[in-house]
Amino acid sequence: MLIETEVPLAPRTTLQLGGLARYFVGAKSEQDIADALEFARERALPVWVLGGGSNIVVPDAGLDGLVLALGTQGQRREDTPDGVRLAVDAGEKWDDFVRQTVELGLAGLECLSGIPGSVGATPIQNVGAYGQEVSDTLVAVRAFDREQRRFVEFTRDECEFGYRESRFKLREPGRYVVSRVSFELTRGVPAAPRYPELQRALGELPGPATARDLRHTVLQLRSRKSMLLDANDPNTRSCGSFFLNPVVTSQAADAVESRVGVNAMPRFPQRDGRVKLSAAWLIERSGFEKGFREGSVGISSRHALALVCHEGATSGELIALARRIQSEVLARTGVALTPEPLFW
Ligand SMILES: Cc1cc2nc3c(=O)[nH]c(=O)nc-3n(C[C@H](O)[C@H](O)[C@H](O)COP(=O)(O)OP(=O)(O)OC[C@H]3O[C@@H](n4cnc5c(N)ncnc54)[C@H](O)[C@@H]3O)c2cc1C
Repeated sequence: MLIETEVPLAPRTTLQLGGLARYFVGAKSEQDIADALEFARERALPVWVLGGGSNIVVPDAGLDGLVLALGTQGQRREDTPDGVRLAVDAGEKWDDFVRQTVELGLAGLECLSGIPGSVGATPIQNVGAYGQEVSDTLVAVRAFDREQRRFVEFTRDECEFGYRESRFKLREPGRYVVSRVSFELTRGVPAAPRYPELQRALGELPGPATARDLRHTVLQLRSRKSMLLDANDPNTRSCGSFFLNPVVTSQAADAVESRVGVNAMPRFPQRDGRVKLSAAWLIERSGFEKGFREGSVGISSRHALALVCHEGATSGELIALARRIQSEVLARTGVALTPEPLFW
């Protein structure tokens, strides 16, 4: 295990922001994970676990502790009566894995195409898009428990998944380092997509949409919204959606609608009877248009939910803009927006 010091973190994040890590380990095995965490424990150093850096905001001052970057690679495959069980190491790139499953004719992850980052980060916020979430197909998570100092396994239920949340993010943040995630995927045609925008974009197909059709269409939709990493796109320095879509009771949604003074506020009914509101719509209604810019930071010209960095941006500026948006949205609509990325 190689322990580096004073390592720049900005190039390891999609926002390309933040200072240096005092200590940095790129783990290539579970032994490296355990050894790096022991190194930090002996010195009482705080630890931050890094995947692809696509959902974090690193402070300009850097981090006085250990950054443990997961670079573990590998997969185990087991056939099941209905499909395949795949156990994937945390450091594998998420979208490479999704592409591979689609090419193998497996269904279950196709709508999650194009999401940046690592496999190991997907259970942290129960990654989701276009009507699919990893919790739909995830069957187990293996992780290092920093309290018990050993590897442990979780079933799907034990992960306590919700909308962009899990026990790893909410109840016990920082306790577990995910080393492997297992999915059970089925062979053949996926379930028909539930997401209206995706249904419309698929148009008229001669038969049911295949996993390949869905991946292709999702990548097109994402590209139009600058929600794919593309070095040539001026909106590319983002962490995707900066705020969660608020989920509220229908009475609370009525109150927002009358406060904003419109009849057709977008609402998405949830299985539990509550309503999901569009954070992007609330942001635009509060005076922040797509393409808005303040200094070196701003809002994507293609999606009001993505905050973007331009040349010279700092984390401080980005956080100040996020706070301004939150307070304006609260004042105008009564809704408190919750940020999606983790502020390290
Ligand atoms: C253009 C763009 C589009 C996006 N679209 C979506 C989307 O559609 N849906 C969606 O859900 N997200 C989306 N995201 C957010 C992000 O890509 C996902 O949340 C992704 O899973 C983060 O993976 P990562 O490896 O980059 O995690 P990082 O940013 O490195 O880490 C995120 C958090 O997870 C923790 N973490 C990472 N790996 C581990 C591990 N192995 N064990 C324990 N903790 C860990 C980190 O400590 C950190 O707190 C998007 C981001 C971008 C830039």
